[in-house]
Amino acid sequence: MLTVTEAIAEILCHAERLPPTRAALQESLGLVLAEDAVSDLDSPPFDKALMDGYAVRSADVSSGRARLRVVEEVSAGQVPHCRVGAGEATRIMTGAPVPAGADAVIPVEHTKPSGENASTTDVAIETSPTPAGRNVLKQGESTRKGARVLAAGCQIRPQEIGCLAELGKEAVSVYPRPRVAVLATGDELVPFNQFPGPGQIRNSNEAMLVAQLSRLGAEPVPLGVARDDRADLSSRIAGGLGCDMLILSGGVSAGKLDLVPAVLADVGVRQVFHKVRVKPGQPVWFGVSVRPPPAGAAAEGSRIPHGPGRCCVFGLPGNPVSSMVCCELFVRTAIRRLMGIEPAAPTSWRARLTKDHFNSGNRPTYHPARWEWTESGPLIEPVRWVGSADLSATATANAMALFPEGERMYPAGTMLEVFLL
Ligand code: AMP
Ligand code: MG
Repeated sequence: MLTVTEAIAEILCHAERLPPTRAALQESLGLVLAEDAVSDLDSPPFDKALMDGYAVRSADVSSGRARLRVVEEVSAGQVPHCRVGAGEATRIMTGAPVPAGADAVIPVEHTKPSGENASTTDVAIETSPTPAGRNVLKQGESTRKGARVLAAGCQIRPQEIGCLAELGKEAVSVYPRPRVAVLATGDELVPFNQFPGPGQIRNSNEAMLVAQLSRLGAEPVPLGVARDDRADLSSRIAGGLGCDMLILSGGVSAGKLDLVPAVLADVGVRQVFHKVRVKPGQPVWFGVSVRPPPAGAAAEGSRIPHGPGRCCVFGLPGNPVSSMVCCELFVRTAIRRLMGIEPAAPTSWRARLTKDHFNSGNRPTYHPARWEWTESGPLIEPVRWVGSADLSATATANAMALFPEGERMYPAGTMLEVFLL
């Protein structure tokens, strides 16, 4: 049976970044840029005032004190017309172009208007000695025309959206959101908005998986419920294989009606692994389906070929916490790889156990826990949890604490590996 690390390595070996597409700027949040973003102009496009005040010649204010004649007033969005000569200044607002002749801006707080008569307005300046360049951002000082502002491979956050808007990008080349089909399986399932009859339970996994996928940036495609019946399973699975990924919930364990692995084999999905040394989630299944290559394309060898037309397929155990944990560890890794987000594999942190904890298990356990950052460092406290069907325990958790396999007491203060949810 594979370890979690080995299973993740297998997923990374079979899941490939999707080919890039163009997306409208406002649709690109969370996606990865597939091309460098290059500036089409200098930023700022002109020498720009950084303060409200007076644009002056620094030589005139070298002592810090001066009385200058105001020749013009320029606000942001306007262009200056007068050159600032010796003994002159221009009243200027933040963001306005600095007039020719001037090379510094004196903040208005360090000045006093002093009109001598009706026709001239002077300004009295009382400040510290002001060098050239003070409170002026030179043209191109932030970015030069032709410079790379964002590199291909960066994930687009609000600040990247701002940079791309500054570059005038209406649309950008990105790796797209994977379309991910979600298929719950089980004769016992009723839609979550119904009251279950005898022997029935609500289908909570579909809603949870759809939410997990949305949060990861994928586009979920819910396919409803397949009954534990070969024909129903195989027709619904076939419907999902057109997506970039198909996630099944339930039907991968050892029960008589756990038909998912057999039906996946029937419809031509090649198994990469079944079962991982993990608790919860041991029965997890992963495989890849390759749609037939176009006629005339070169035949592939025994290796599952990469490229478009492939669908990564996960069979997650039906127990809700198993489903959730397997989605966090395995599905998330595949989604990030398809979206070009690196590193794709889960990142762990270390935190100090707050109280004694006894763990028993023949597999490493991902125990729902509360992580908290304190002045003395990160702490982790396992929540009360009675097993893989106990989903409500996860609602009080914001992390998973990893306990290695084996039976033992972990004293308070033990440093544990933790995964934030
Ligand atoms: P299975 O993996 O199909 O053997 O299911 C394991 C457990 O998870 C059983 O108790 C199922 O009733 C439960 N289960 C399966 N699918 C779902 C689902 N979609 N929502 C909630 N519980 C489920
Ligand atoms: Mg089942």
